[in-house]
Amino acid sequence: AYRGNNEMGRFSEAFEVMRSKLQESLEQQRLSEQARKELITTISHDLRTPLSSIKGYVEGLQDGIVHDKAKYERYLAIIKNKTVKLDSLIEELFQITQLESGHLIMQAELENSQELLEDLIRPFELEFMDLNAELIVHRPFPALPIRADRARIAQVFDNLLGNALKYAGAGESSITISAKREASFLRIRVGDNGSGIAEEDLPHIFDRFYRGDKSRSSKYGGSGLGLFICKKIIEVHGGTISVRSRLGAGSLFEISLPVVETAGR
Ligand code: ADP
Repeated sequence: AYRGNNEMGRFSEAFEVMRSKLQESLEQQRLSEQARKELITTISHDLRTPLSSIKGYVEGLQDGIVHDKAKYERYLAIIKNKTVKLDSLIEELFQITQLESGHLIMQAELENSQELLEDLIRPFELEFMDLNAELIVHRPFPALPIRADRARIAQVFDNLLGNALKYAGAGESSITISAKREASFLRIRVGDNGSGIAEEDLPHIFDRFYRGDKSRSSKYGGSGLGLFICKKIIEVHGGTISVRSRLGAGSLFEISLPVVETAGR
């Protein structure tokens, strides 16, 4: 009877482990299904917004209500801009699929970090000037050999600077960029004086679909994918991304990319 009990005990223990594993995997499945549904909802919404605006402007042009040349040009520029937005949404979607299947396609080249940062950051300086937003760039950047996929790193800056603007407000924002060598890493910092991030949100902001409470309930658009994609991109570069922030006190994002050690050093 003793042994029987013991076996029963072991059996029910094993059964319990199996049951909880099954429950766990069902829960994961439920979460990923939910995430997928959310993704479809967000994406349909995000795609529809620029599309309906394109439709509106095209109809305006067709109706012949636009007579002066400047307005005509402006409409075309807006339409063009909306197609660019659509394009980047589709690109984002495509990347999510790549990320989910576990391979983000990278085209990394050996780069000089100074040239790379100059090339990638200059367009933002022009854009920020146009938006009347302050972008303080600490130059010169260190010139170090790094392996980087330009388009992907550009996307990281686009996300970080876009967020900084979004959560700081173009008129009031002051955003800073700096870079320096730290041990065998190039460390890039993007800081802002915006809303900051609540302590309870901080551990999650790099998670897929995660949006801070304030961002979800507020006017800011977004999918909660930006930082998730940034993290993946930096990780495939062998680097890390982190944040320091306090609600009301701005945020500081820090990227570390490995410096390529050249022979003889
Ligand atoms: P979203 O599309 O919501 O901007 P992200 O993945 O880019 O998604 O960011 C996730 C969340 O992190 C945001 O919803 C926001 O709460 C917070 N966040 C990101 N960047 C900043 C920032 N510079 N200042 C304040 N909050 C930020």
